[in-house]
Amino acid sequence: MSSDVTQLVNEKAAVDLVMQMMAVPGKSGQEGRIAEFIVERLKQAGAPDSAISFDSAHKKSHMGGEVGNLIVKLPGTERGPRRLLMGHMDTVPLCVGSQPVRNGAWIRSKDPETALGGDNRAGAAVVLGAALTVLKHSLPHPPLTLFFPIQEEVGLVGARHVTGTRLGKPKLCFNWDGGAPNVAVIGATGDDHLDIEVYGLASHAGAHPEDGVSAVAIAGKAIADLTENGWHGLIAKGRKAGTSNIGFVKGGEATNVVMNRVTLRAEARSHDPKFRARIVDAYRRAFERAAKSTRNAGGESGRVEITVRDKYEAFRLSTEEPCVKAALAAVESIGMPAETRIINGGLDANWLTAHGFPTVTLGCGQAGIHTVEETLFVEGYLQACRIGLVLACAGES
Ligand SMILES: [Zn+2]
Repeated sequence: MSSDVTQLVNEKAAVDLVMQMMAVPGKSGQEGRIAEFIVERLKQAGAPDSAISFDSAHKKSHMGGEVGNLIVKLPGTERGPRRLLMGHMDTVPLCVGSQPVRNGAWIRSKDPETALGGDNRAGAAVVLGAALTVLKHSLPHPPLTLFFPIQEEVGLVGARHVTGTRLGKPKLCFNWDGGAPNVAVIGATGDDHLDIEVYGLASHAGAHPEDGVSAVAIAGKAIADLTENGWHGLIAKGRKAGTSNIGFVKGGEATNVVMNRVTLRAEARSHDPKFRARIVDAYRRAFERAAKSTRNAGGESGRVEITVRDKYEAFRLSTEEPCVKAALAAVESIGMPAETRIINGGLDANWLTAHGFPTVTLGCGQAGIHTVEETLFVEGYLQACRIGLVLACAGES
């Protein structure tokens, strides 16, 4: 069965599709045009208006945005659990202006100042291409949901705020975003964001430094504490592991003023939610200790305010999970060795899984993403197209 459907992947049509999609500008928050492109192509292929809708995820986004997530529901022509195929439709801003050109085995942007946009137009093209092929050839398929989230690149915003009830209760979910088409990502880390405000007391640094409380001295003590006790950078405590990083520091205006405020931003990652909470706690304690112990001549101390925001929760799928089994079988059905991987970054799959829709993520030929060196490996993308079509038709079993 699967070998039959993969022959229906028209290589020229698949490459044309992704090149057209990469040329459409659509950074996070500005997905209107690429959404319109996808909708037009589906309608031309015969998808009814009633199958196509947008949710209101952009209204819950910190950045607003032109459109919500695009959700397309195709009724099944045969019985079976509903399958969801997804790929985020935004790109990083560097891809705006991309002029995709084919260069042998690779596609790159002719404009050396832009990235290509294979992240993630290649993933969205895998999903769209599978649907177009199914519709064009009237292939038998179970109920399908096509899901094109917005604003992945600015913190998985579309997947986070998706109206889950609109997805049609999918039982097997497949996401395309990444490089190797035969690698199934079945787990990813969780990530917390920390906003740290350190408050001291200003005074003249020459005339009355002893009246001031230096916010940067507080921050410095806290950072020294964290690094000396192994809570900054790579963290290993017994069998628990994680990472943390202070990636932003800002404060001060003049050398003759005792600095009264410093702003820091940090992140804490771990696959173990409890351990991640311990990392955050270590930050809280280090900064509070440092604030309390930094006093002026009058005995006044500084203070800190730490706000923690969960960016996404960690997840790990069993290899027995139906979407994982199906993904691995589909990879093998096209003659590639299937692999699973756990990664230390976040994916839309983190949020889908947290919403109760376990999601496996496969690659689609991306390379050098988020840089002007970005390319798309054509054969990797085509393999992903074949795997996508097999999964859309439930042809792997
Ligand atoms: Zn991506």
